[in-house]
Amino acid sequence: MPPTTPVKRKRGEGQWKLGHREPLNPNERTKKDDDGLNVRARIENVYAKRGFDSIDPADLRGRMRWWGLYTQRRPGIDGGRTAALEPEELDDSYFMLRVRLDGGALTTEQLRALGEISQDHARDTADVTDRQNIQYHWIDVVDMPAIWAKLEGLGMVTTEACGDTPRVVLGSPVAGVSADEVLDPQPAIDAIVARYVGNPEFSNLPRKFKSAISWQQDVAHEINDVSFIGSVHPEHGPGFDVWVGGGLSTNPKIAQRLGAWVPLDEVPDVWAGIISVFRDYGYRRLRHRARIKFLVADWGVEEFRRVLEDEYLGRKLIDGDAPPTPERPIDHVGVHRQVDGRNYVGVAPASGRVSGTVLVALADAVEKAGSGRVRLTAQQKIVVLDVADDRVDALVAELNTLGLQADPSPWRRATMACTGIEFCKLAIVETKERAIRLVEELEKRLADVVPEHPISIHLNGCPNSCARTQVADIGLKGQIVTDAAGEQVEGFQVHLGGGLGLDSGFGRKLRGLKVTSAELGDYVDRVVRRFAAQRTEGERFAQ
Ligand code: SF4
Repeated sequence: MPPTTPVKRKRGEGQWKLGHREPLNPNERTKKDDDGLNVRARIENVYAKRGFDSIDPADLRGRMRWWGLYTQRRPGIDGGRTAALEPEELDDSYFMLRVRLDGGALTTEQLRALGEISQDHARDTADVTDRQNIQYHWIDVVDMPAIWAKLEGLGMVTTEACGDTPRVVLGSPVAGVSADEVLDPQPAIDAIVARYVGNPEFSNLPRKFKSAISWQQDVAHEINDVSFIGSVHPEHGPGFDVWVGGGLSTNPKIAQRLGAWVPLDEVPDVWAGIISVFRDYGYRRLRHRARIKFLVADWGVEEFRRVLEDEYLGRKLIDGDAPPTPERPIDHVGVHRQVDGRNYVGVAPASGRVSGTVLVALADAVEKAGSGRVRLTAQQKIVVLDVADDRVDALVAELNTLGLQADPSPWRRATMACTGIEFCKLAIVETKERAIRLVEELEKRLADVVPEHPISIHLNGCPNSCARTQVADIGLKGQIVTDAAGEQVEGFQVHLGGGLGLDSGFGRKLRGLKVTSAELGDYVDRVVRRFAAQRTEGERFAQ
């Protein structure tokens, strides 16, 4: 008998559409065992009654995310030990809770309720995230039924705020009121949320799926899994330009244009087609390769569009050109005229940190100014809509007393920070409070330097880049570094010169360029002064 050559099977990437359903990694196994959406009933009927210790580990570290709950970091564990410990050693018995606010839109009634929940159940914590969510900490599972009752009674949800799901849909904070907007995309956001969020059709994706839909380029569309950005077609008029495959973390990718123009009423169907391609063809074998950006990069955007059209939409999309890129980043901070003659007022809390007390006081101030609407931005800022001319000054003054500045320093305006070691189990360093202290320090040290374009500084507690390390002028990725005395201390790897919009691209990670957390103020001062001294006219930091 001649020796037989074993048949080599090509190893699948776990793509469902190609029949690669086994073997499953632990995350895929958890999702297959039970839909994450089903954990809601267990939380209400069992865990909220019996307490933290009754929670099934697969729910605790997996499915509870489908309802916005994530165990927070046990206090007292330093960043040097983050990677060395098992997940259960890092778990606190309290949770982070994320409330998804699609399009970032809030009434003052909702805002006040968010503040009261923080005061009653979250030790007065609240952060405005760069995905237009409100994030609480110190949530006890026994309080969840009361929290959901209050949120849902006012039309707010935590459904699929985390997990391998369609996450919050970013939208322009000035949709429907901006004089620069041609078409308000809010109906498309509302339709997507109504049809698909909490729908088992998309509750088991390979990984998270981040969406953005805006007329203006104010939602970081280049780094979302899918984005629809306003574009005027020469024949068909206003509609949306489609981008796919963006994302940061350890393998950052700028999204690519599909080269397609989509009218407003077709946005939900095209969105559903794209997320279906991801669900069916996305890589599930290795979790670190599961985001849609890897699929788009491997296939190429032309093939992605062909599969979308032929297998999911059953028709060809209309070709479209890219909309022009704005000259400056759009953050909506300051006082701006609305299309109806009233004003919107954008204010900057330091690195997105507020509190329940501030949210309640903000709701009161907004109502006193004759408005009932507030929006959150994708830059950790807050915008008050519908303010009459004669109410603006009083509102601005009152918000200032709450630490919400409408005319912030460039450092406060362009600094963002992720959650960091205070609460995040993946963190290596502290970020939020460090960012707040850094802003205060830079406001004093660099009072004589007024950059023509704000220089963005983004502090991240680990490589996951939740506050967008790679697309900041000065991007900071937390790690343990060695200080001048040879001690291991908290610090950052520096990425210089990244950006979005005109400067779309990733900052350079200069070999060996690390700074301790304590020296951060000195470092930024040095870099900014050197740039200011050597800058040619009109030059931006990222150029
Ligand atoms: Fe946590 Fe890292 Fe994300 Fe910061 S970047 S919130 S430390 S996972």
